[in-house]
Amino acid sequence: MYDFVGDVHSCYAELWHLLEKLGYTDSVRPEGRHLVFVGDLIDRGPNPVDTLSLVMTMVQNGVALVVMGNHDDKLHRYLQGRKIQPKHGLQETIKAIEAQGTGFRDNVKNFLSGIPVRRLLDDGKVITCHAGLPEHMHLAPETGKVRSHALYGDTDGTLDEEGLPVRKDWAKDYTGSRIVVHGHVPVREPDICNNVWDIDTGVCFGNKLTALRYPEMEIVSVPALKVYKERKW
Ligand code: MN
Repeated sequence: MYDFVGDVHSCYAELWHLLEKLGYTDSVRPEGRHLVFVGDLIDRGPNPVDTLSLVMTMVQNGVALVVMGNHDDKLHRYLQGRKIQPKHGLQETIKAIEAQGTGFRDNVKNFLSGIPVRRLLDDGKVITCHAGLPEHMHLAPETGKVRSHALYGDTDGTLDEEGLPVRKDWAKDYTGSRIVVHGHVPVREPDICNNVWDIDTGVCFGNKLTALRYPEMEIVSVPALKVYKERKW
């Protein structure tokens, strides 16, 4: 079955600690299980290059699956030559990737091109995407609206005091039986609401990196080694 991993945000050392706890290497997985990254592999943390290399290897080896996070999507748009504002740590990620040369840059671009924004797993009993989706968007065609919700959540355009989008809590109204696993919204402890699981426990903000073992619905976490980016909780 699946081991869902929350936002890694370039926290490479913590990712390895979690993989060890779950019984994975870059080429070996526990029998019958796959790792599923819920997106935001990069930015804010210390090691984007090694994190991307490791995840790309795991995907290539059939060990891991990935869905797109808003940070990954923004990097992808940059690598495609589109105009973006490199904020929230992306500037450092771009610098580190460019320093590796064009071969690595192209590998990352190709890798990101192949990542979907949502995945139905276990015969549709569970769906994962970076920011979560309300039920009417689970099977709907991938319109701009669906894609935007999958990447950014249900934002209303307003910003908080740190300049980050204010999110509406759609999970409160969720009545579906399908389990939704997502990241994107940093929480101190995994947040479970009506079959919706937020497993972004803010490792880059010095908290922890969390996995959800499915279908056991067991939480496995490892602590952050340091505070890479300050945050008001
Ligand atoms: Mn994130």
